[in-house]
Amino acid sequence: MKLQNKVAVVTGAASGMGKAIAELFAKEGAKVIVADLNLKGAEKVAEGITSQGGVAKSVQADVSKLADIDNMIDTAVSEFGTLDILVNNAGIMDGFEPVGDIDDDRWDLIFDINTKGVMRAMRKAIPIFLEKGKGVIVNTASTGGLNGAHAGATYGASKHAVVGLTKNTGYMYADKGIRCNAIAPGGVETNIGSSMKNINEFGFERTKPAQAVMPRTGKPEEIAQVALFLASDESSFINGSVIVADGGWTAA
Ligand code: NAD
Repeated sequence: MKLQNKVAVVTGAASGMGKAIAELFAKEGAKVIVADLNLKGAEKVAEGITSQGGVAKSVQADVSKLADIDNMIDTAVSEFGTLDILVNNAGIMDGFEPVGDIDDDRWDLIFDINTKGVMRAMRKAIPIFLEKGKGVIVNTASTGGLNGAHAGATYGASKHAVVGLTKNTGYMYADKGIRCNAIAPGGVETNIGSSMKNINEFGFERTKPAQAVMPRTGKPEEIAQVALFLASDESSFINGSVIVADGGWTAA
């Protein structure tokens, strides 16, 4: 098993990629904190893991709230004794709006969840990792964090910021035993569509040529395999990197 006795926190773990990551990590021997805004969903995932002989605990955590992030990491330490792996996966989409149509409240909400939540969870985890001289962070960015054609301006900017945070963190703590990498998934079959509200027709139309060259969508389990690789010692020399997993979409 690749994560035997490791303690992992996975955010946004009630659904989609986070759920697949939590389940795979548990299968590989990790004790997993299944964190999500949706407590019922998180409980269901944790119960599923436990029923398969794994170790997991659900925690309600809205990653836009500082107290919830602190509680999520504190729970990992109080329940399982430490923290080895942090997966910042929770995120929401925008409505494909270009900068000319951005609403301040929506901008703030998306940045609070997609970007500030990632920073705050990393900030909370770093002292634990520094004390151990070891720790791994995996952030779910997006191909929308590498180009301007896959989403609206707000989502794209929030994920570009995650890429920047990932590179800086990977570099800053490189000689402290801490690695920080990101995954940039392409289109993956999850429930992310439920966060796409008030679609901006102009912006959505502008993304269509890019959508048209997507070879196929991916399964959450295919992204979980990338997260497992990045969380395990098999990727020991990979740090500050962004792994694109998009089935060849951005090769177009
Ligand atoms: P999903 O909607 O299936 O899962 C996201 C989970 O995050 C849900 O369980 C939701 O309850 C949770 N969540 C939402 N807001 C939260 C908050 N404030 N605090 C804590 N949890 C919250 O979507 P997914 O596609 O699995 O999304 C996972 C990540 O992947 C996101 O960061 C998303 O931006 C990114 N992503 C998705 C795609 C895609 O095509 N699905 C592509 C690239 C990147």
